[in-house]
Amino acid sequence: MSGLLKDEGHLHQPYSEERRAQLDLTLPGQAHFAVPGSPNTCRECESWGGGRLRRDKTGALLHQRCRKARALMHGAPPAFIPHTAIACMFFKMRRNVPPVIRRKEPKP
Ligand code: SF4
Repeated sequence: MSGLLKDEGHLHQPYSEERRAQLDLTLPGQAHFAVPGSPNTCRECESWGGGRLRRDKTGALLHQRCRKARALMHGAPPAFIPHTAIACMFFKMRRNVPPVIRRKEPKP
């Protein structure tokens, strides 16, 4: 085998391992690539959702849009992303992290 062929493995891998890991974690609608190893999720980010987060009848969080992604897309609505999405580099901790499920208090 020619010495020129020894290192051709990289020709079949369009992305580095680091970028591949980022792409595997990133969901459509996120503002940037997810950061592998980040302890944070989009639920904790101030850009996730609007002022009032969408919930289903049981009080569980629904997918929300990322406002940072929307701004980067000049207002075009990005895809909804789940609260479990791994945070991207634009992550900013929100003041009040919403609970995954908000139970309604029974009316007296
Ligand atoms: S971490 Fe924040 S800015 Fe990044 S995708 Fe999630 S909600 Fe958007």
